[in-house]
Order: sequence, then structure tokens, then C-alpha cells
Amino acid sequence: MMSSDFMYQRRRMVETLVRTYGIKDERVLEAMRNVPRHLFVGEHLRNQAYGDHALPSEAAQTISQPFVVARMTELLEVSKQHTVLEIGTGTGYQTAILARLAGRVFSLERIGSLARQAISRIRELGLQNVKIQIFDGTVGWSDAGPFDRVLVTAGAPSVPEPLLEQLAVGGILVVPEGDLERQKLVRYQKLRGGGQRRQEGEPVRFVPLVGRFGWQGESI
Ligand code: SAH
Repeated sequence: MMSSDFMYQRRRMVETLVRTYGIKDERVLEAMRNVPRHLFVGEHLRNQAYGDHALPSEAAQTISQPFVVARMTELLEVSKQHTVLEIGTGTGYQTAILARLAGRVFSLERIGSLARQAISRIRELGLQNVKIQIFDGTVGWSDAGPFDRVLVTAGAPSVPEPLLEQLAVGGILVVPEGDLERQKLVRYQKLRGGGQRRQEGEPVRFVPLVGRFGWQGESI
């Protein structure tokens, strides 16, 4: 099912995640050792797929740096009992990582061409616990919720309210919050009895989350 090409590059990538970035969660590392990242980038970029950087994808979007994928996934503490909502499918790489760790993954992408490519990649990899739809993810996916985990992989001015609403009690939501140029990873945990705990993490740079509860279209 999972490609054995680029195995060596994948191992090196994971070593960098451990040594340079201090990623510790063995399950996250194992997922990243297994998912063939080179299949999520254009053919001309395959040789760079395991480098320590983001890469351009279709439609002027990006596939996140391996470290950012690893850190976000680690912060999310995903396991097989969990139903996860992801906003910003993009290439589907992060979706595939989540699919290996979670019970079910629902992912929303606003750009149809990206979503369609991601769907076919996920299918080729034989990952059967994923549903991808073309939709403004800032409003969430209320029919499929509540979600144990929510991951936003585009930069938001602040956490979209519907996503917090669709988070289960005790659930964790990770979102890059900030302006259009730079953001910080922010982790919310929804508390019993209302309210949430908010913790700030690393600085990151994501493409904008464009939608009703994100950045408004015309200003981007
Ligand atoms: N996680 C992706 C990278 C995401 S780049 C990967 O691993 O490849 C951010 C993505 O969020 C882009 O594809 C962009 O189109 C999408 N996006 C931006 N705003 C969105 C919204 N409101 N709803 C759904 N997707 C959105």
C-alpha cells in the first residue's frame, strides 16, 4: 500500500524532526515515516519533497514544512478513537498523516481542483477512513460533528467560532492565528462546563484561511 520509494529520504526527514525540532511522539514519527510525501507534490518537485521546507502546490497554495505537520499533529494528540475535522485539505498530505492516527477524518477544502487531487491520492494510498468535501471550512461540518479533534491548516485572524462549537467537550483544536504574514500555533482545549484553555506555540507562516469566519475574499 505505502510506497517504499524514497524510504531513505523519509528516514532522514524523520531524524531531522527528532534531532532538530524535538518531535517526540513516536506515533507521529511512524506516520511520517510511512506516508509517501513525494506523491503529494508535482513531479518536478519530487526530489525536494523530503527537504526541511514547505513547497508550492497547485492553485498558489502550499504543502507545509514537515516540521509544521509533525508539530501540529503532535499538539493534536490524535488516536484511533478520535473523529478529526481538518480545514484546508490542500494536497492531502496532512490528511493522510491524520488518517493513519485517527479513527475517522473529515477534511474540507475550498478549492475544487485541490480537493479532487487529494481525494484521488488518498484513494490510491488505500486510506478508507477519510471524507473530503469542497466547502468553506470556517463554518465547519456540523452534520459530521462533534469532533474530538479539529485541525486548521491555513492562517486565521482568530479561531472560527463554529469550529469551537463543533469541538467535543475535552476535545483539542489547533489553529495558526495571526495576521496575513505570520501566525502562531494556538491550541484550544474545550473544558467541561463551558469555556476553553488557550495555549500559544511556535511561530508559523500559512496561506490565509479564506471564508465567512476567516479572512474575507476580496482583501486577499
Ligand atoms: N494541509 C495541507 C496544506 C494546506 S495549505 C497539506 O498538507 O498539503 C492551506 C489550504 O487551506 C489551501 O489548500 C487552501 O485552499 C485551504 N483553505 C483556505 N481557506 C479555506 C477554507 N475556508 N475552507 C477550506 N479550505 C481552505
